Amino acid sequence: MKKQTQAIRIQTERTQEMEHSTPLFLTSSFCFDNAEEMRAAFADESDDNIYSRFSNPSVQEFTDKLVALEGAEAGYATASGMSAVFGSFMALLKQGDRLLSCNSIFGSTHTVIAKYLPKYGIEYGYIGANATEEEWEAAITPNTKMIYLETPTNPGLEILDLAMIGKLAKKHHIILNVDNCFATPVNQQPIAFGADLVVHSATKWLDGQGRVLGGAVVGRKDLIKEIYLFCRSTGPALSPFNAWVLSKSIETLDVRMERHASNALFIAQSLENHTSIATLKYPFLQSHPHYSIATKQMQNGGGIVCFELKGGIEAGRKFLDQLQMLSLTANLGDTRSIASHPASTTHAKLSEAERQAVNITPGLIRISVGLENKEDILADILQALN
Ligand SMILES: *Cc1c(COP(=O)(O)O)cnc(C)c1O
Repeated sequence: MKKQTQAIRIQTERTQEMEHSTPLFLTSSFCFDNAEEMRAAFADESDDNIYSRFSNPSVQEFTDKLVALEGAEAGYATASGMSAVFGSFMALLKQGDRLLSCNSIFGSTHTVIAKYLPKYGIEYGYIGANATEEEWEAAITPNTKMIYLETPTNPGLEILDLAMIGKLAKKHHIILNVDNCFATPVNQQPIAFGADLVVHSATKWLDGQGRVLGGAVVGRKDLIKEIYLFCRSTGPALSPFNAWVLSKSIETLDVRMERHASNALFIAQSLENHTSIATLKYPFLQSHPHYSIATKQMQNGGGIVCFELKGGIEAGRKFLDQLQMLSLTANLGDTRSIASHPASTTHAKLSEAERQAVNITPGLIRISVGLENKEDILADILQALN
């Protein structure tokens, strides 16, 4: 089956009720017919479900879809994107190992790397999103065990060359772990470029309607086994209810992402030369510095557009205040278009120099382009700019 079909037709086996839509297994534990079956399940001699911290059919269905879409061998779904990120670090890194990460990463991931990993004796190093192959090579030390990156990056929309970094990781036998939240698997499959693991915040485009938190790690079977064992003991299990919502969401992911991307391209093209905008970034505009890498590894430019307002912090705040339809909210990847101003919100605690280092300029606005009519989205942005 093709991916679009798998996203819809991978489903928990039909029960005796002959339901058409997928059932929801909202249960903490599972029953056994007799003592022997129960013993065998606990001894790992059968695949029977025991307890929903370990496995649950609704969670498995969501995981199976993501595994298929990413071209992975196995996966484990978690309660949030951050528990997927944290689980992938803690299960595979030990004291004395080093994590090499791109410095343009989600804020909470930075906190985990820089504040918590060192408490366990795990070292880290950062590298810029625009680093060359030579700079990457030079940043790899003998104890570098994992490379971590996001592409496109949040919120700067830089594109990292997955094939180049995948090749380096293979050469040095380093686990390549990619946060594919921004692109989603219908737009980019990092495993095809050499990634060993892919982490997701399902909270964003995978849900696509701003309803539930969720996450997942998919990738190499041997690595997922370690992550599964870590998670089943430490407890970041995904709620079966959230998994059921997310599995239904994935049925429409392909058509949603196509429209998000075409709306975003329209917004980017329409605003590129606006007099209030200093620079505008969208991966599938030829003006993007990494346009050729973006078009090589992504099927479309995704749903996020960023621009730098002339007038810095104050212009950014004023722009948000003038919007009438776009939502001001701490999420992205929703049917509803969302505007955010990182310098005064998500990244306000950083110093000006720290923000500059990760390309968060004072007037940077991030638009998560929704599924409303594209002319209505543009009209709201234009009236606010004016
Ligand atoms: C939101 C986000 C996360 C964290 O996901 P949660 O579901 O909020 O825990 C990780 N990476 C990226 C790129 C994100 O946007």
